[in-house]
Amino acid sequence: MTDLHWRSATELAGLLANGEVSAVEIAQALIERADEVDGQLHAYLHRTDERLLEDARASDERRASGQTRSRFDGVPTAHKDLFVTKGVPTTSGSRILEGWLPTYDGTLVKRSAQAGLPLQGKLNMDEFAMGSSTENSGYGPSRNPWNTKSVPGGSSGGSSALVAAGGTPWSWGTDTGGSVRQPASLCGLVGVKPTYGLVSRFGVVAFASSLDQPGPLTRTVTDAAAFLQIAGGHDPMDSTSIPQAVPDYLGSISGGIEGMRIGIVTEIEEAEGTQPGVKTRVGEAYRRLEKLGAELVEVSLPSFEFGISAYYLVAPAECSSNLARYDAVRYGLRVEGPDVVSMTSRTRDEGFGDEVKRRIMLGTYALSAGYYDAYYGKAQRVRTLTIRDLERVFTDVDLIATPTSPSTAFELGAKTADPLSMYLNDVFTVPVNLAGNAAISVPCGTSPDDELPVGLQLIAKALDETTMFRAAYAFEQDLGWAGSEEGRPSL
Ligand code: GLN
Repeated sequence: MTDLHWRSATELAGLLANGEVSAVEIAQALIERADEVDGQLHAYLHRTDERLLEDARASDERRASGQTRSRFDGVPTAHKDLFVTKGVPTTSGSRILEGWLPTYDGTLVKRSAQAGLPLQGKLNMDEFAMGSSTENSGYGPSRNPWNTKSVPGGSSGGSSALVAAGGTPWSWGTDTGGSVRQPASLCGLVGVKPTYGLVSRFGVVAFASSLDQPGPLTRTVTDAAAFLQIAGGHDPMDSTSIPQAVPDYLGSISGGIEGMRIGIVTEIEEAEGTQPGVKTRVGEAYRRLEKLGAELVEVSLPSFEFGISAYYLVAPAECSSNLARYDAVRYGLRVEGPDVVSMTSRTRDEGFGDEVKRRIMLGTYALSAGYYDAYYGKAQRVRTLTIRDLERVFTDVDLIATPTSPSTAFELGAKTADPLSMYLNDVFTVPVNLAGNAAISVPCGTSPDDELPVGLQLIAKALDETTMFRAAYAFEQDLGWAGSEEGRPSL
């Protein structure tokens, strides 16, 4: 069957159910696709081709004996390299974890396997998920399949590059400040930041624990909803996991948006710094939502302006504590020294990249005696204001719409010398992590400026993914971009 690699996970599940294709054939098609494109993209840090074929054979056997584990048994996936995988290298994009072979599977990895999904491998990312371009990876950057001179976004950039290039129908990333939604936007994909606590963080290498949340990257809204349903829901291994099962998102996904109230944020529409082409496409997206029966309502979210400032205190503070565990004793790299202190400091000096060191220093400073209240304490107060702002607005509207990112994919090297301009990529996504709400990025075509993809962000109430998916689906179906020739890079 031709073009198997461009089929969505839902389509592949249908082909498998009808016996039109085997799991081994799908696996082989994706191995061929990786051979064809990954030299240009560097989406993978580690391919598990043999394991993939083995898993696929086992899936075909299960299907032959009528014992499939789920509808998606035999549809492969690949994970961002911070999901802990038993016996498979897990680096989190850092040299400091080089050579570490975990002894267990994280919950998300386990649930994917329990649904029968063969494992394709581990995907590139900014070191410890700190970045917006994958240029902070300790193993070299990934590239955007829409233009290989440009970044695929980050930190889940290997995940977005591979899905956009037809190398896998779906992958998982993590979103601490935008790292699923921003790369989805830059690669023309659907990306979800679920409500904090919906998807387990057990076996996810920690960056900023009160913000980290795994999320799927896919080419269609239906696949994103289906994958969240597979991996989400309560996990006793994560103390912040919400003790609830995942509702049936797919049952109501085609219900339409007639009568929904969607907030448009005055401060964001008036802000400078968003590319004109992004404004054009996102403006058209708002009008499309209106045409589909939604009512657009102007809303004000004054605290959003302080999101980036608060995030770059809270996230580094938590990271400085989380990354203390890389002591040269327990995991990965060890650079020997005359005593244990010099061994630890030499290892950390060599093993961590510049951005990670910058964050550890920022976080340690923000938490130090005498500065704690002025920096960390104040940032936490902004966080509370963000939560209240959103609560207030959500008494009036069902969803909030914004651009996902102020720009399309930028060229490699364009922002590496200026960390602040890199941080500003997440200006529209970060407040959602601070508050814990759910949000999705859905493609709205390519920018008239540079023909690169633009994303629309839809923010929902906490645990209201159902409404979010319904609106994103209605928008996607009406636009007709996903799954069309136009919606694919020519790589
Ligand atoms: N770009 C942001 C950062 O560097 C967000 C990263 C993320 O969501 N993991 O912190």
